[in-house]
Amino acid sequence: MAQCELHGYYGTPFCSDCDENGGVNSAWRNDYRLFNEDHALGQNQYASRYINGSHGYPNLGERFRFKGDSSDYHFVYIHVDDYDAFRQKVLDHRNRQ
Ligand SMILES: [Zn+2]
Repeated sequence: MAQCELHGYYGTPFCSDCDENGGVNSAWRNDYRLFNEDHALGQNQYASRYINGSHGYPNLGERFRFKGDSSDYHFVYIHVDDYDAFRQKVLDHRNRQ
């Protein structure tokens, strides 16, 4: 558990209150964003499986920086510099199928 100076303890990688308001413990301030923010990869439940190759999906998340528990797929974050590359890797994989 992390602690926010403003909002106390929180269980997700970034304080949800700060995330909405852009505070010091927000994902954006820390160079992270939701891994499937605009849902270009479809539903989070399925897209998150590519992060660690669960449920028989290929593991496409190696060498990318994630924060959060991939089983809590609505709160998985990726470093902003990895966002486009991970997305492209998933889309390329799907195009090959
Ligand atoms: Zn906070």
